[in-house]
Amino acid sequence: MLNYNKFDVDKIREDFPILNREVNGKPLIYFDNAATSQTPKQVIDVIVDYYSNYNANIHRGVHTLSQEATDLYEQARLKIQKHFNAKFNHEIILTSGTTHSINLIANGFSTLLGEKDEVLVSALEHHSNIVPWQMLCERTGATLKVIPMNENGELIMSAYEALLSEHTKLVFVNHISNALGTINPIAEMIKKAHQVGAAVLIDGAQSCPHVQPDVQALDVDFYVASAHKMCGPTGIGLLYGKEEWLNKLPPYQGGGEMIDEVTFEKTTYAGLPHKFEAGTPNICGGIAFGTAVDYMTAIGFDAIATYEHELLEYATDKLLQIEGLKIYGTAKEKTSVISFNIEGIHPYDIGTILDKMGIAVRTGHHCAQPIMDFYKIPGTIRASFAFYNTKAEIDALVEGVKKAKMMLL
Ligand SMILES: *Cc1c(COP(=O)(O)O)cnc(C)c1O
Repeated sequence: MLNYNKFDVDKIREDFPILNREVNGKPLIYFDNAATSQTPKQVIDVIVDYYSNYNANIHRGVHTLSQEATDLYEQARLKIQKHFNAKFNHEIILTSGTTHSINLIANGFSTLLGEKDEVLVSALEHHSNIVPWQMLCERTGATLKVIPMNENGELIMSAYEALLSEHTKLVFVNHISNALGTINPIAEMIKKAHQVGAAVLIDGAQSCPHVQPDVQALDVDFYVASAHKMCGPTGIGLLYGKEEWLNKLPPYQGGGEMIDEVTFEKTTYAGLPHKFEAGTPNICGGIAFGTAVDYMTAIGFDAIATYEHELLEYATDKLLQIEGLKIYGTAKEKTSVISFNIEGIHPYDIGTILDKMGIAVRTGHHCAQPIMDFYKIPGTIRASFAFYNTKAEIDALVEGVKKAKMMLL
């Protein structure tokens, strides 16, 4: 579909219409990619095409439009299966996103856990990966334990091993931390969890824009992600689950009866993945998710990772030259996220001044309040880079931060 022979950021930027707009009279510099990514015209075109030419409900109608929409939707599932290297197509459940996927699993495990059981969750989690487990433990009487982190924002592996026991039933950790950018050693963590018979769910919301996970090589039990963080639309995401686990878990939405009806209506599909896909799905979103995967694959995940690493090193270097600036999260393995503060200034004030200059950064606790508590700060300024950002934009950020500092101190 696309031909990007070599990584050319100027050419790539032409794919993103939003990068042409101005904010407060200045060209937009978008550094909030960890919250949501921008959308290339290839994906926008597919959304327009779907509603212009294919809009119909799927899996139900015998008419041509419904069949065409169904084919497109199921082709997208195949693309996603291939991208994540799932063994079976029906192991790919299309959900509304990471949060939905996590809640689906947490709900399922409430039938499998008892009072002696333990759930491990990492100190680096997004709220969406903490609250559902607290609710699960309240419902089942199981105990929630936290894998601690160090000053660099890395999980402490010796503490993780000490927490694992025959009581551990589930381990939940993000592949990459959204607040700090830490890349967690998930392959090793999965292996250790399996040695005590625990299942592992990896939150891939932050990793999927940067790397291509291989769920079979990882031997992970569940892997979840959101399309909107990897150039797709909002309201669609993925739950990968090993077949044996998905068969074990009860349906989530609508109750068993309704789901039975849905599956009986459609003779071709029985059981997975439809057991977990009650109701009319986000059809257009699913198709566009497939296109987003195609788009990023055409650019190439290796090229993306190399380029983003270059941006990370460049920005880290430049920002650290500003006196009083402190970066939180200095893990050896990290992705293109920089969380920082300037001594004596509230992050919100800097974010507001940067916005006046057309620079979009995130300020606050980044849905990861426990991490902020760890560092005893109210929040940070977070600049997160994508493959369509440039060094010139980073220069503008650095100049902007310097100016803000001058105005505020
Ligand atoms: C964004 C994010 C989520 C939540 O994703 P939604 O699309 O809002 O459901 C969960 N975990 C991490 C690490 C994230 O970055």
